[in-house]
Amino acid sequence: MERTLVIIKPDGVQRGLVGEVVKRFERKGLKIVGMKMMPLNEMLLREHYSHIADKPFYPGVEDFMKSTPVIILCLEGLESVGAVRVICGITKAREADGGTIRGDFAMSVACNVVHASDTPENAQAEVARFFKDEELFSYDKTEYLHVYLDEER
Ligand code: ADP
Repeated sequence: MERTLVIIKPDGVQRGLVGEVVKRFERKGLKIVGMKMMPLNEMLLREHYSHIADKPFYPGVEDFMKSTPVIILCLEGLESVGAVRVICGITKAREADGGTIRGDFAMSVACNVVHASDTPENAQAEVARFFKDEELFSYDKTEYLHVYLDEER
């Protein structure tokens, strides 16, 4: 099973959306294998957002991401990277589909409630960046019997 990283961003924490966001992943059938709250510092953000660090809007994104501690989740499931991106919706939240987290709860490009890994390779790197081994848990989820066929598990 694939693992992916989600960050509930400062706007999600400030707006009381943590439970709502986690609920959406849980009800989909994804397994929470890691979850914690932490503040993000400049060094970590520059690494995490290296693909946008030279953009003119980056300083604003960095200030925003440092403004409040965030919730970090590691979710596990079959092709979970893609499944989680669908639940989150596109970057520009005001144009994201209704039913997605960004589509339902945000208007901004920057303040879009969640980050989610975009490829399995990036997911692996991001999970390792934000979680120590001992903060990730393997366990049987009895619900899997009803979420997947035997051959999918
Ligand atoms: P995504 O988070 O959907 O994978 P990107 O990796 O392109 O999107 O961008 C990372 C984050 O940087 C976005 O989620 C958003 O918070 C911020 N961002 C991206 N583009 C812009 C922009 N044009 N203006 C302000 N912030 C942006």
